[in-house]
Amino acid sequence: MKIVILGAPGAGKGTQAANLSVKLKIPHISTGDIFRSNIKAGTPLGKTVKQIIDNGGLVPDEITIEIVKGRLSQEDCRDGFILDGFPRTIPQAEGLELILDQMGAKLDYVLNIVVTDAAIIRRLSGRRICPDCNTGYHIDHDPPMEEGICDNCGARLIQREDDSEDTIISRLNTYHDQTEPLIGFYEERGLLANVTGQYRIEDTTNEVYKVMGIKE
Ligand code: ADP
Ligand code: ZN
Repeated sequence: MKIVILGAPGAGKGTQAANLSVKLKIPHISTGDIFRSNIKAGTPLGKTVKQIIDNGGLVPDEITIEIVKGRLSQEDCRDGFILDGFPRTIPQAEGLELILDQMGAKLDYVLNIVVTDAAIIRRLSGRRICPDCNTGYHIDHDPPMEEGICDNCGARLIQREDDSEDTIISRLNTYHDQTEPLIGFYEERGLLANVTGQYRIEDTTNEVYKVMGIKE
């Protein structure tokens, strides 16, 4: 199964992608995670993209497409994958079509998780993340057992640099300008399925299962 998950920052793409990855036993590929781990490891790529990401901008298409191309060519992607956070622009979507053509593959589903801007802003400003094991939390909806500490590994939770108030606004603007047009792009190709991301995580998961005909 080859799946793209679309949606604004904070719509819950990562959460749904992680769940589907376990359920369908196919890799979860998050360009955001790839960039963040490169930043953390201080690689040349990390150095190139840090400033852009911290400011809420987008990494240039050529760089992003190359990374995804490399990742999709790995053995574990042969029977399927879930792309989370890619494509984010029309040129990236065209790049993906080209990559898939070359692989003789095509997408099965593009799931668009729909959430209002107001909910996005509330969500992202309360989001916390474990710098060691990457588990996500929310101070209101999904707090850790002990404040500021990862349930999973005991590390001290942090706020992502790009989850600061100003950056959230610019990420949302970037989303509306550059990523939202992908909804039409995939609708035209008959691949789009909208699911609501406004309420509980399980509600979204159930809608996703329904769209894809997966039994719980
Ligand atoms: P979110 O979806 O919550 O914004 P991500 O982890 O997907 O978070 O992405 C974080 C940041 O990484 C983005 O704001 C952007 O700067 C960069 N990024 C991630 N994916 C892409 C992409 N496909 N193209 C360009 N930049 C990207
Ligand atoms: Zn942790």
